[in-house]
Amino acid sequence: MIIHLKESVSDDKALELAAQASAIYYKKDGFYVLITASAQKEINPELEPYADAHFAMSSDIQLASKDYRSDLREITLGKAKIGGKTNNTLMITGPCSIESMEQITQSAELLKKHNLTTLRAGCYKPRTSPYSFQGLGLEGLKMLGKIRDQYGYNIITEVRDSTHIDEVIEYSDIIQVGAKAMYDQGILRKCSKSGKPVLIKRGFGTTLQEFVQSAEFVLSGGNENVMLCERGIRTFETKTRFTLDLCGVAWLKENTNLPVILDPSHALGYRYGIADLTRACVAMGVDGLLIESHPDPSVAKSDAAQQLNFDQFTSMFESLQPVANAVGRNII
Ligand code: PEP
Ligand code: MN
Repeated sequence: MIIHLKESVSDDKALELAAQASAIYYKKDGFYVLITASAQKEINPELEPYADAHFAMSSDIQLASKDYRSDLREITLGKAKIGGKTNNTLMITGPCSIESMEQITQSAELLKKHNLTTLRAGCYKPRTSPYSFQGLGLEGLKMLGKIRDQYGYNIITEVRDSTHIDEVIEYSDIIQVGAKAMYDQGILRKCSKSGKPVLIKRGFGTTLQEFVQSAEFVLSGGNENVMLCERGIRTFETKTRFTLDLCGVAWLKENTNLPVILDPSHALGYRYGIADLTRACVAMGVDGLLIESHPDPSVAKSDAAQQLNFDQFTSMFESLQPVANAVGRNII
């Protein structure tokens, strides 16, 4: 159950009520929001005089649910806004991993050419083998910091584990919680206190319920700037890297109030179909796209097979416009 306390309730009283109800809480716009397990269907009698509104919820998808808040949440990402009534689709691009200053500067120039605002690049890579390239770590974050100073972009980069979460929070404008890290509640709780926008990627064996509940960890700590990213789930199919779950995306759009970002690059795993998939995603009216691009994918140190070179990115990007026009979206 979600309970909005009256603005007149003091901080001490709110904390006392939260403890009595075994609720977690945060303060927003001058009032406290208390959240208990969704199994609770009736408000506690001792709480009622202090409550302005309460919402009985059907599952632990609570703050993210359309039953609580029917409007799509708006999120501000530097100069860009997504969600709400914006009809914006944010194009996020950049390499899988930052590899050198030269490489990331070339990527920054690609964004400039297309008037884009949000550059991605991983510094701490969650590889499936310890022998693969693990990322440049802090050195990479510092390079991204330089790019941010020079170009003013939003930087999105991923946190792999709790050992470097503070660094990632410091250097990023949007924190990416990857498919393998999305169950790490230490990371999620830290993100909830950072106030920075958080993009959570769906684990490849994660149900939609579990996926949105990981967003609840961030929302219930008082950070309302959460985006959900579908990046493919594992099915019986082996010809593609993963299976992009567009049915799941339809479900998220219908049932949650969080912006949805689509990542066809990691789903397909091969560059040949990325343009087609990206057009399909735009046609679905999603809030953002995450596309891996690299100045020379043949030498990329991670995810080489799926990254687009800049000519391929440009022709894909140009092909999105008629689709966006047809469904009333602005690609930003
Ligand atoms: C990535 O975005 O480069 C990445 C590692 O993604 P995922 O967590 O979806 O595998
Ligand atoms: Mn990648």
